[in-house]
Amino acid sequence: MNLIENISAFQNIVYIASSILFITGIKMLGKEDTAVKGNFLSALAMFIAVAITLVNIVNPLLIIIGISIGAIVGSLIALRVKMTSIPEMVALFNGFGGLATFFIAWSEFNSIPENTFQYILIMITIFIGGVTFSGSIIAYGKLSEKLTIKKTSIVTKLFTTIFYISIIYLVYSILLTNIFVPKFDFFTILLILTLLGGIGFVLPIGGGDMPVVISLLNSFSGIAAAFAGLLLLNNVLIVAGSLVGASGLILTIIMAKAMNRSIGNILFVGYATSSSVSKSEETGEVKPINVSDAYLILENASSVLVVPGYGMAVAQAQHVVRELGELLEANGTEVKYGIHPVAGRMPGHMNVLLAEANVPYDVLVEPDDVNPSMDSIDVAIVIGANDVVNPSATEEPGSPIYGMPIIEVNNARTVFVLKRSMSSGFAGVQNPLFFKENTRMLFGDAKESIGGLVSEFKE
Ligand code: NDP
Repeated sequence: MNLIENISAFQNIVYIASSILFITGIKMLGKEDTAVKGNFLSALAMFIAVAITLVNIVNPLLIIIGISIGAIVGSLIALRVKMTSIPEMVALFNGFGGLATFFIAWSEFNSIPENTFQYILIMITIFIGGVTFSGSIIAYGKLSEKLTIKKTSIVTKLFTTIFYISIIYLVYSILLTNIFVPKFDFFTILLILTLLGGIGFVLPIGGGDMPVVISLLNSFSGIAAAFAGLLLLNNVLIVAGSLVGASGLILTIIMAKAMNRSIGNILFVGYATSSSVSKSEETGEVKPINVSDAYLILENASSVLVVPGYGMAVAQAQHVVRELGELLEANGTEVKYGIHPVAGRMPGHMNVLLAEANVPYDVLVEPDDVNPSMDSIDVAIVIGANDVVNPSATEEPGSPIYGMPIIEVNNARTVFVLKRSMSSGFAGVQNPLFFKENTRMLFGDAKESIGGLVSEFKE
């Protein structure tokens, strides 16, 4: 064996070690007490894989400069990001993964593919990477609420059409192979159509469907990386990409199931068709309550269900929520936490926040566990949740969220809804829960309202 073969054999052994670290790291992410270590192991695996790849590169300076700039920018963004903006950041970083593979495939195309397999691989990698990039930018815009184009608008329809055209053009480009290379610059057209198509892929998806799209884009970024690994014949990229691709796909299926929808329906049909608008614009009277009165009811409750949502994350109220839970239990009340799978803005968002506040795992219940016995709950406290408790999802065919499973707090004896105003949630629809006979609105920032209740209990 010559030196180059020795180095490459050694690299492959290190790649296998990195892959094992990746798998172990991902496994450890599944439990709160090992998650931080799991994250560290996966980052270490990535560092080792990158370092060993640089060994036989003749002039690694450019790459090192690129990595350093990326590391500095990435670290600064991650350090500065607000907890509530992490989902947007993840969407953006997914997109950059897609962009990297888009560029890899582009550069491989320029170095002339050796055979038909490589050519097809390049076309597919360009497409998945490009769609992931521009689709993720749109997802970022939607999550950060900077982009509010309606899915029924003409712009959305135009981009959606371009998305379908881009798929047809991809098939055309693949069929061209090396045999019928046309006179016009078909490749540049593919690049442009792909990037515009990604916009059209995500634009029409909205409301409660975003969690599914985010995890699908995450999966795409992994698949694109695995394809790029095949192009570069880099084993660790194939393994890491496949891990992200497969785990993202499993998460997508879990999220779609949680929304009671098929993935095809989410991507190509959407919740409600064209002009259907929620009827609940709203009817009835809102009954506000103050902290002292809410305390009196809670003091006498024998069972309480806490239902947290995105607003708890905004208010960073998880610690004070745990404190209230402990005070209620000390008062003889049975306390459970109803966790909806798409509450918040990222999968597992509520679990992460409550785990951070040391709420025991065994008091967390899923909608299916708690809904059948909801009428035995004395008080349901909805903390900054809106869409995930919206009865329109079960009662109002034609509502943009009709069909989504919810936590049916409207069937509890009394409901406290803690939010700052009457404004809608992520899906942008009014919530008839606020007008129900058994609902009391406790207006204000969730942390302050819960803090007030805690003080009342302590007095
Ligand atoms: P929603 O977005 O439906 O509602 C959140 C509510 O929190 C708002 O109505 C807001 O009302 C209130 N709120 C905001 N800040 C505060 C505060 N400081 N104190 C008290 N209340 C506050 O959240 P849900 O968790 O119910 O539902 C999640 C939605 O997000 C679903 O539609 C889901 O599909 C979507 N989504 C979920 C993702 C995931 O992976 N989990 C990813 C992307 C989207 P007000 O302004 O009046 O205070």
